Formats: sequence, C-alpha cells, structure tokens
Amino acid sequence: MAQYLLPCSCGQSIPISPRQAGQEVDCPACQQTLKIPTLGAIKQLPLAEGTLAAPTAREAGSTMAKRLGFALLAVITVASLTTAGIAFYRAYSPDREGQSAQTVDDFLNESFERFDGLPPHELLILWKDYQDPGHFSKQIQPMFYRDLLRREAWKRTGIAATGIGLLCLIGAIVLARRS
Ligand SMILES: [Zn+2]
Repeated sequence: MAQYLLPCSCGQSIPISPRQAGQEVDCPACQQTLKIPTLGAIKQLPLAEGTLAAPTAREAGSTMAKRLGFALLAVITVASLTTAGIAFYRAYSPDREGQSAQTVDDFLNESFERFDGLPPHELLILWKDYQDPGHFSKQIQPMFYRDLLRREAWKRTGIAATGIGLLCLIGAIVLARRS
C-alpha cells in the first residue's frame, strides 16, 4: 500500500499509510504526537519513496519462511559436516592394535614391518602360531575383513554426509543472496 509523508513541525517527515487516517502517531525525532488527517487530506501529502513502504503480510511471511529455511539449512550443514568429520576420522584412524590398513596390501605391509622389528624368539613363537592349521583364516582374516568393511562403511557415511552438507551449504548461500 502506498505511503505518504506527514510533515512534523520539527522538520521530520513521518511515513503513514491511508489506513491510519484519523489516528495519532508519535514523531520518531521529537516524540510529539501528531494527528493523522482524514483519508482525503492524506492523499494530498507527498508520496513516500518505495523503500519506505511497509512490507505486506505476504512479503513478511515470505521473509520469515526464507529465514527459517536458511536456519534449517545452516543447522543441517553443520551437523552433516561434523558427521562427515567423525566418519572420516573413524575410517582412517588406527585401531586399538595400531592398524590403519585400508587394503589387504596395506595390512600385509604393516604386518611385515612389525615382524622386522621382532627378536628371533618371538618370531619363532609367531611362526608356530601361523603353522597352527587354520589360525590365519579362523582368527586374523575375519577380524581384518570385519575391520576393512567397518572402515568402508565409515567412508561411505563420510562421503554421503559431505554431499548433504555441501548441498545444504549451497542452498543456504542461495537463500541468503536472494533475501
Ligand atoms: Zn517531530
């Protein structure tokens, strides 16, 4: 709705709308209470700039919806990127035994490095362990593959969370630019 400028004796002009006809308004500059004239007299006043027009209810609602959307997207962005950080940490950090192997080759290399540092009598114990039929396939192999699958699952979670986080970040930026 169009707004008009009601002049005050202090020199300030107060934007008013025709629906305020007959009411009173306080001048923001001098606090003087001014009587707003009748509708006919208001229409004789100079028009306020478009920027001074009060937002309509629909505009206010749309601004509120954008703010809510932005807040929601910001929260999801932070939550997703935090989840991604935790997931990638769990995928790549060493386990309780210091293993951080991502592939079977990595696992073998890490094991060989460990053997290199062992004194001969411990190597002999290990050798006997490995000669026990089925030791590797029954104990070490399933443990290792469970670990590998667990790391793969964390990686997938991390990638998905990163994707969701980035999409929401872009959405939030687009919303912020539009309003
Ligand atoms: Zn005034």
